[in-house]
Amino acid sequence: MMLATATLTMVPAPAALDEHGTALVACAHRDQECNWSLRADDDGTTCFSCRLTRRRPQADDAAALERLAETSKAQRRLLVGLADLGLPVDPYWRTDGGLAFDLLSSQSGNGPVTIGHAGGVITIDLAESLDAHREQLRVQLGEPYRTMLGHFRHEVGHYYQWQLVERPGGAFLEECRALFGDERASYTDALARHYATGAPAGWQETFISEYATMHPWEDFAETFAHYQHVLDTLGTIAHGGVRIDASALMGTRTQDIMPRTSYADVPMAVALEDWQWVSYELNRANRAMGKGDLYPFSIPPAVGRKLDLVHRIVTASTVPVPLVAPFPGA
Ligand SMILES: [Zn+2]
Ligand SMILES: [Zn+2]
Repeated sequence: MMLATATLTMVPAPAALDEHGTALVACAHRDQECNWSLRADDDGTTCFSCRLTRRRPQADDAAALERLAETSKAQRRLLVGLADLGLPVDPYWRTDGGLAFDLLSSQSGNGPVTIGHAGGVITIDLAESLDAHREQLRVQLGEPYRTMLGHFRHEVGHYYQWQLVERPGGAFLEECRALFGDERASYTDALARHYATGAPAGWQETFISEYATMHPWEDFAETFAHYQHVLDTLGTIAHGGVRIDASALMGTRTQDIMPRTSYADVPMAVALEDWQWVSYELNRANRAMGKGDLYPFSIPPAVGRKLDLVHRIVTASTVPVPLVAPFPGA
């Protein structure tokens, strides 16, 4: 099976047709565990996700290529989530400042790789896809959650803030500044302050994470990442037909919790109400397996308001077919 990019559905490999009756072929990186497809009449040989990867390890760097295969799974998951939200993904080959991924390893001997976003390009350190390395960093930095998907979702938050909010005349700019703070504040000063003194006391009442307290940009990116965590997980649960019976809710509700595949037509408060119960049950399930909470965060009202603004920004920016864009010539 492989993914048909336009419809985001799984189709049989290799003899599938797209919705226009055009034959689909598997991505040339199928041997690197890519399960996406492209049209047979396309000039290229790799799928939309693989093409968004602008820089990758050298062909003889086997260790880094193994990490690339692992990391690209998270990248594809990110893209499916963005498409489910209806957000446009404008690739770098079509638009100056369009989205691109530089997937490089800090263990390849070419110097450090700093995870970040600049001008549409998201850089990811492939070495972090090694569980032992990433877990060590997580403990060192005192973070409750650190995953490759989390990195992608955070960095793409910077990309969308730049694209959807900070454009001249952006409709949400003032509201964004009022809630998250003025993004024109010095980032260098914020960084120095954060690593010298840490998060301010009582940060839990207004921020989703300690890192979010550093600078308005980081607060937006963290909030945007959690927006994707919440809606993607609720959507996955909904597709599986899972719901929570009202009788399990300790008399607090008379109606069952029925997660939705999309919350685009309702306020964020509806998703957060569902999430409160779904994450509670998922956390209990994780603990039943001897693991930590699946969602080791709590969402205070002030963070709920930030998530609501992100929800309004996203739902005001949707396009009908997000991931289908003209590919570059051969
Ligand atoms: Zn691919
Ligand atoms: Zn960031």
